[in-house]
Amino acid sequence: MLPMVKANAYGLGVSEVVPRLESLEPWGFGVAAVSEGVALRAMGVERPIVVCSPAPPDEVEEAVRGRLQLSISSLGALDALERAARAVGTTAEWHLDVDTGMGRSGFDWQRADAWLTDATRDRSGLRWVGAYTHLHSADEGVATVHEQWRRLGTVLDRLEDPPDGLMIHVLNSAGAFRTPEYARSVVRPGIFLYGGRIGEGQPSPEPVASVHARVVHVRDATPGSTLGYGSTYAATGAERWATLSIGYGDGLPRALSNRGSALIGGQRVPIIGRISMDVTVVDVSGVSEVKEGSVATLIGSREGEQITLDEVAEQAGTISYEILTGLTSRLPRVWT
Ligand SMILES: *Cc1c(COP(=O)(O)O)cnc(C)c1O
Repeated sequence: MLPMVKANAYGLGVSEVVPRLESLEPWGFGVAAVSEGVALRAMGVERPIVVCSPAPPDEVEEAVRGRLQLSISSLGALDALERAARAVGTTAEWHLDVDTGMGRSGFDWQRADAWLTDATRDRSGLRWVGAYTHLHSADEGVATVHEQWRRLGTVLDRLEDPPDGLMIHVLNSAGAFRTPEYARSVVRPGIFLYGGRIGEGQPSPEPVASVHARVVHVRDATPGSTLGYGSTYAATGAERWATLSIGYGDGLPRALSNRGSALIGGQRVPIIGRISMDVTVVDVSGVSEVKEGSVATLIGSREGEQITLDEVAEQAGTISYEILTGLTSRLPRVWT
């Protein structure tokens, strides 16, 4: 396992997530930025740390000093890594990123003639430890996964003398479930660890994160009373409105305005009006015992009702990844 803990462990909080993953003894941790790897070292992580995105040139030395394993996508980046290892006076380990269709990083699988020999020759101060690719559509089915695996294979098959123990890794969460036959050295799960679904017909994750907010104000609205910026909502009759202390400034997507829902008092209630930066209003007409201090659930389960992370993502027109990484630091993380 090479669990991905980039972007603050998908927004949940890397300093809490990593110790919990540590107890499962993963091979290492995956990040996207050099600063994230350096932060893991500062937390005392001793396992390998792989930076799975190209590093900016001016961060390469810092990565080497932090014993991070960089992903390399170009001969220029490999030369820069060689120079950094010499400057720091150490051996730097690196992974070959092969682009098999994602297009955002990696050496182009179709042009191996142009780079393979130079990229894989012995270089002083460098140790080539892994080769990988990233899947672009594993959540949608297996056809593209088979093809991307084949493309990586055409590159690896050309290696005359691969280093002993060269790691091969391709599977993200969806790939790990759909095509476990391609789990070679490690798999790189992310979203499934944090409670996001991985496609139709696949196992559902355990819910991991829930989002709750306090009621801070309750009012009885008279017919015609308007609500929120743009007054996009007006009471059609006598209604009871509850103001929740959460808004888009906490990461509740503004796209849920007039369409999302919350759980309160054992019922599912609609979000009404536009979500503001700091507060959101729900219609609690007919819900008994809602008062200041009551807790509403925006994501999670309460008393048999459930609003899933993926349901919220769909309603907001996005994906679970963006919902989780969008939760801001103002929203306190409470670990149970
Ligand atoms: C983010 C990432 C993953 C994890 O993907 P999930 O879909 O979250 O499982 C795996 N590999 C790479 C290179 C990534 O950037």
